[in-house]
Amino acid sequence: MNRVSKMMFCLMTFFFAYSGFADAEHSDPVTPADQRKSLYLKTAALTGVDWAMLAACDQYARNITASVNRPEHRPLISLTSTDRDWAGLFNIRLHDQDPVSIDFFGGTGKDGNGDGKADPKNPEDALLAFAEQLAAFGPGEENTRIAIWNYFHRGKAVELIEENAAIFRKFNTVNLTGYAFPLPLTANYDYEPTWGARRGWGGLRIHEGTDLFADYGTPVRATAYGVIEMKGWNKYGGWRIGLRDLQGNYHYFAHLNGYAPHLKKGTVTSPGQIIGYVGSSGYGPKGTMGKFPPHLHYGLYHDNGVSEYSIDPYPSLRLWENQERLKRR
Ligand SMILES: [Zn+2]
Repeated sequence: MNRVSKMMFCLMTFFFAYSGFADAEHSDPVTPADQRKSLYLKTAALTGVDWAMLAACDQYARNITASVNRPEHRPLISLTSTDRDWAGLFNIRLHDQDPVSIDFFGGTGKDGNGDGKADPKNPEDALLAFAEQLAAFGPGEENTRIAIWNYFHRGKAVELIEENAAIFRKFNTVNLTGYAFPLPLTANYDYEPTWGARRGWGGLRIHEGTDLFADYGTPVRATAYGVIEMKGWNKYGGWRIGLRDLQGNYHYFAHLNGYAPHLKKGTVTSPGQIIGYVGSSGYGPKGTMGKFPPHLHYGLYHDNGVSEYSIDPYPSLRLWENQERLKRR
């Protein structure tokens, strides 16, 4: 091999080893999710912070930076510090990576991988630095909640992170991807893109969702890995369910006929799980039914770390429907 091809070979080896596609022993490739899970476990063992909580905080941080970082540029761990926090307030070396002097200046920087450097770009160092900040508030759920608020400065972050943690805990993995169409593909249903249209009842309101017309009692399915965030009556939506997924999306199901047994606020769902049934509830006081043909109103909202806004669910519905159709073949 000449020098150039040797260099290329080294680079390729590095690339494949680092990106987890190395497959020397014909074992399953190590995915970024697997790499993350082992980092969470290792850091949890070092700090006493629950691994699912670390995973949940990291997931939240990844969600709110998703619009900034394209998938291929996303770091393994998304929890970061400012240079100033990392190095310490009065540290004259803003890019200091010496754990001893960082510690002296009260910086958050830590050496997680034991290479003698506290490198904010290193996933193990970044995660340990974050976990130590949580641990500093003391053990117990209430202290952890305060620590999370202190890091993200947002009440809603605490709520979303606790929901993420419940999902990771239940499935004991962070490798949770995939969505489901909200109705069984075998059901008799029909839907059109109606997001943004005017609504007929309750004054001037814009239609923030897609109406899926189906028969009374058609099962309504969870669209994602998520947590039931809301369940109950409202004069517009009737019997409703709100489901929060790991990506910070809020899935809203309205006009239901009823709920799946045992479903309650805090229930963790997987895609395709039955959560309720199509009906025509709403447009009046509690229990009002039949003011319009039975349908599922499905709305989709995204939380970007600052606010929550409605997105058109129609393209997602078509995508999930097609993906399921392909799987069934
Ligand atoms: Zn609707």
